[in-house]
Amino acid sequence: MSLIVQKYGGSSLADAAKIKNVARRIAKTRKAGNKVVVVVSAMGDTTDDLIKLAFQVNKDPEERELDVLLSTGELVASTLLAMALHGMGQHSISLSGAQAGIRTDDAYSMARITDIDPSRILKELNKGNIVIVAGFQGINKDSDTTTLGRGGSDTTAVALAAALKAERCERYTDVDGIYSTDPRLLPKARKLRDISYDEMLEMVSYGSKAVQPRAVELAEVYNIPFLVASSFNSNPGTLIHKEVSMEIVNKVRSIAYDLDVAKITILGVPDKPGVAAKIFVPLAKAGVSVDTIVQNASVKNITDLTFTVAKSDLEAAMKVVQPIAKAVGARQCIGDPQWGKVSIVGSGMQNTPGYAARMFDTLSKAGVNIQLITTSEIRITCIIERVKVKEAVTVLHQAFELDKKN
Ligand code: ADP
Ligand code: ASP
Ligand code: MG
Repeated sequence: MSLIVQKYGGSSLADAAKIKNVARRIAKTRKAGNKVVVVVSAMGDTTDDLIKLAFQVNKDPEERELDVLLSTGELVASTLLAMALHGMGQHSISLSGAQAGIRTDDAYSMARITDIDPSRILKELNKGNIVIVAGFQGINKDSDTTTLGRGGSDTTAVALAAALKAERCERYTDVDGIYSTDPRLLPKARKLRDISYDEMLEMVSYGSKAVQPRAVELAEVYNIPFLVASSFNSNPGTLIHKEVSMEIVNKVRSIAYDLDVAKITILGVPDKPGVAAKIFVPLAKAGVSVDTIVQNASVKNITDLTFTVAKSDLEAAMKVVQPIAKAVGARQCIGDPQWGKVSIVGSGMQNTPGYAARMFDTLSKAGVNIQLITTSEIRITCIIERVKVKEAVTVLHQAFELDKKN
């Protein structure tokens, strides 16, 4: 008997009919002779609605209370799904993150799982129950509820698959799998048969909202095959795993984009040892993660420094950086929220020349001006104006022939 972890996202559980649809699919997996652990997200837009509500009663809600509030969305979905399964004659039990043994650190709203005690889940499985776990949550050492960051149910699912030594983890959602780019932006995007952990990690770290990045990291560390498929049909999904098939290696596989980029430029910085540390250490302490960093070659010991942060972090970043810029004698510090990112990703790009040239040439022919460039071995990213992102994705998708069979 195999043990399978299935995760259903908010769009798959948005109303009573959809919950019943999910219950039928789970019952089918159970009847096929598998042990099943299911992780659920909150129904539809529940998490967004709860956040709005919290900010309506207090502009600066206390983080402990906010995490408890947000965790309730997943509890609602888990109990309703268990009830739907009972209605179909299936033995099933819902568990909160705490009951499922998920322990985390203290970082409210972005807690990390520190360990999992799977004993209660195993006990329920042995009793013949389908176990439904409320995703996105755990408890810290004081038994207070914590949440794992937006999209955190993905991480719950993969972490449970690792702790339970499940055969695989399946993520069911409103699209048929992982596409060459977000099908919502470009309907002619093509579904990929499979993709490597590394490629997937680059995609989701550079803006594609297809899976929570930490879930991909965990799947890679524990080598858990991770299937992404639709909860509304039975089309084959996309398998995220270690190696992709030989014949598709030498290619760009996908285009990721991010519409949430802000740029900070510090002009006229005296070029002395320690200046970068003076700026970036306090930013890290303030919880702002910095992405692309570019420092110009200095002229007469004066240089310019540019870096990007998430648009939502711009205000916090400027509060940290402005006084430091002044203290180190910089001429000016400018924050600009109008940016976006477009990336081409593919392990076939490694050690193969020509991809960067083709990307820059394609963007230039489309009149897209590149502000900054950053690369990894399997990714090239350009920071461009936000209003040009859709056009950039479209022309790059065409130039790298991603609408052709992969
Ligand atoms: P769920 O409701 O299941 O949690 P999500 O919104 O978290 O769904 O994830 C599914 C969405 O991810 C899709 O509707 C799609 O628009 C988006 N997405 C972004 N990039 C991609 C991609 N490359 N392939 C597939 N889906 C993508
Ligand atoms: N409900 C949470 C969110 O919307 C967690 C999740 O869906 O995975 O981010
Ligand atoms: Mg989601």
